[in-house]
Amino acid sequence: MATSELTRELYDQVMVPNYNPPGVIPVRGEGSRVWDQQGREYIDLAGGIAVTCLGHAHPRLVNALTEQANKIWHVANVLATEPALKLARRLTELTFAERVFFANSGAEANEAALKLVRRHAFNRGETERTEIIAFEQAFHGRTLFTVTAGGQAKYREGFGPVPGDVRHLPFNDIEALEAAVSERTCAVVLEPIQGEGGIVPADPEFVAAARRLCDERGALLVFDEVQTGVGRTGDLYAYMGLGVAPDVLTTAKALGGGIPVSAMLTRASIAETFQPGTHGSTYGGNPLACAVAAEVLDIVSDPAVLAGVRQRSERLQAALAELGERYGCFEMVRGRGLLLGGVLAESWRGKARDILRAGLDEGLLSLVAGPDVVRLAPSLIIPEADLEEGITRLDRAIARLAAA
Ligand SMILES: *Cc1c(COP(=O)(O)O)cnc(C)c1O
Repeated sequence: MATSELTRELYDQVMVPNYNPPGVIPVRGEGSRVWDQQGREYIDLAGGIAVTCLGHAHPRLVNALTEQANKIWHVANVLATEPALKLARRLTELTFAERVFFANSGAEANEAALKLVRRHAFNRGETERTEIIAFEQAFHGRTLFTVTAGGQAKYREGFGPVPGDVRHLPFNDIEALEAAVSERTCAVVLEPIQGEGGIVPADPEFVAAARRLCDERGALLVFDEVQTGVGRTGDLYAYMGLGVAPDVLTTAKALGGGIPVSAMLTRASIAETFQPGTHGSTYGGNPLACAVAAEVLDIVSDPAVLAGVRQRSERLQAALAELGERYGCFEMVRGRGLLLGGVLAESWRGKARDILRAGLDEGLLSLVAGPDVVRLAPSLIIPEADLEEGITRLDRAIARLAAA
C-alpha cells in the first residue's frame, strides 16, 4: 500500500475508536523536531507524553538499539540476558532499590507493584491487611487493577466488578491520610506529581507524612514514578527531590526513551515476596528494550543533563507565566523540571484541547492534562533554539484563540 493511502480516513476504518487523533501523521523525527507526511515541521513539546526524554533518533539510542538488534532480540525470562542484567545493575546503583522486576508499560509495572504489596502482607500471615490507599485524580494505568487504583471513576465505568478493598482519599490531605492508614492497610500508592490528573505536585509534608504513617502502621509506600521518573523533574527520580524514599517504585515512560519498557524497583526483603512462579511477563526485560534503556539511564543520570533540565524548566516556567499574564489564559503554572502545566484561568476553562489543536496548526506538538491544564513534557535535552521556537508557536496559537 502506498504511503499516500495511509491517511487519517483509513484510521476510522481499521482502528478501534478508543483514540481520536487529529489529521497529522508524523513520519520522521530528529531531536525535538518532527515532520509529517506532507513534510510540515513541528516542534515537539509533548515528548510522546513524557516518553522521548532524549528527543527523536538520538544517535546513542539508535546505536544501542541497532547494536543489540544484530546480537539477540528475545529469549524470554527462562534465561537471563546481558542487557537486562546491565540495566538492573544500573537501576540499583542509582536508586534506593536493591531488586528490579521488568515489564513493558507503566500499567504493568504498577500491576506488579499492587500484586506485590498484597502478597507481601499475605506472606507475612497478615491476611486481613489487604487495603490499598490511593488518591483522587490519580492515574496508574488502564488494566483493571490499575484503573481501580486510579482516582478517576470514569476510567472504571462499566468494567466492573473491579478488584476490591481499594480506597481513595483526597490528595495532599494529611489529616485524611492520618485517619485512614491502619493495620488493614497494605500500601499507600501515590504519584510524586499527579500527571494525568492535572500536574498536581505532592506537598513534601504530605509525602513525609505518608512515609511516617506507613512505617508506624506497617504498610508499604509505593511511588508511581512512571511519568516523573528518569530525569523529568530535574532529579533522576522525583523522590530524590522530596527526600523520602518509597518501598516500591515504578518507572516506565522515559525509561526507554520511546521503546516500551518498565520496571518495578524495591528492596531485597520485599522482593522476596515474589518467588519463581508468583508473577511474570514474557517480554519483561526484553534485550532490545533493556539495551536502549541502559543507554537512556547513562545519559540522563549525568549531573550536567539534570542541571540542564532545571535550567530549561526555569525558562519554560517563565515563558508560560508571561503568556498567562499577556493573554489572561493561565492562572498558575505547576509542576517541576520539564513536566509543567499551565492551569487555565476562569475565562479559558475547558479550552486546553483548543490550545493543543491551535498549536498543531502553528507547528507545535503539546499535551493536555484534563480539560483545564496545558501540559508540556519536552525532551530533557531540547536545544535552546527549539525551546524558544516552541514557545513562539505556543504564543501564536494562544494569540489566535484570544483574538477569536
Ligand atoms: C502513563 C502513566 C501510567 C500508565 O503507563 P502505560 O505505559 O500507559 O501503561 C501509569 N502511571 C502514571 C503516573 C502515568 O503517567
